[in-house]
Amino acid sequence: MHEMSYCIKIVDEAIRAAKDNNLSTVSEIVVSVGKMTGCVDELLLNAFEAAKKNTILSNATLTLVSQEVVATCLDCNKDYVPTREFNYACPICKGFNSKIIKGRNCTILKLMGD
Ligand SMILES: [Zn+2]
Repeated sequence: MHEMSYCIKIVDEAIRAAKDNNLSTVSEIVVSVGKMTGCVDELLLNAFEAAKKNTILSNATLTLVSQEVVATCLDCNKDYVPTREFNYACPICKGFNSKIIKGRNCTILKLMGD
């Protein structure tokens, strides 16, 4: 279940962010879930329940926000959502010289606590 490895990373990152902001507990966390991760929301939520145990996140609620995959074209500098219709190439210049800039990871958008 690769959702668990994402959750462990999220919890680690959240603990670090909480320390940086002098928070002793985390009550709420909002995480962006990239579509390329292939993570299933329900499995992420279940994995989070296990990963947060005995940490400062033990009472935290997790909200998930789905993130579309976004690529940036290195030929024409346009951002686009890669689709199968264009073989994941740039729909503007049809170039394949692109890199994924969003949707590849799970990242913390917001963290609240005290
Ligand atoms: Zn292009």
